[in-house]
Amino acid sequence: MTEKTLFQKIMDREEPGDILYEDDRCVALRDINPQAPSHVLVVPRKPIPTLDALTEEDEPLVGHLFLVAQKVAAEEGLTDGYRAVFNNGSDAQQTVAHIHLHLIGGRRMSWPPG
Ligand code: AMP
Repeated sequence: MTEKTLFQKIMDREEPGDILYEDDRCVALRDINPQAPSHVLVVPRKPIPTLDALTEEDEPLVGHLFLVAQKVAAEEGLTDGYRAVFNNGSDAQQTVAHIHLHLIGGRRMSWPPG
């Protein structure tokens, strides 16, 4: 059996995590190293390692992650906007090989990202 990812361990309550929302397809948890007043990760239960590993079958799942992000953003009071970002691969500094949507908000951001 392959080793569980960090996020699977958090979902399975084998590692601590500040879980804000969960359903049968995904979990939303606070990032341990927040980059803004509100920084939440929306993670599918399915351990897809990178965006490059997505298949047609995952299309509704990815849409679901965005709808959950929308719900969490409303609960976090992010009425003035937010970022919804996937880091993919080494150039983007993806560090956990289990795709996750970063929902970042609560401050004015700059563009382009660093
Ligand atoms: P990425 O670099 O895009 O792969 O994002 C991984 C994110 O996971 C980073 O923003 C980390 O701060 C965050 N992270 C790492 N360990 C934990 C943890 N135990 N609980 C919550 N977030 C974590």
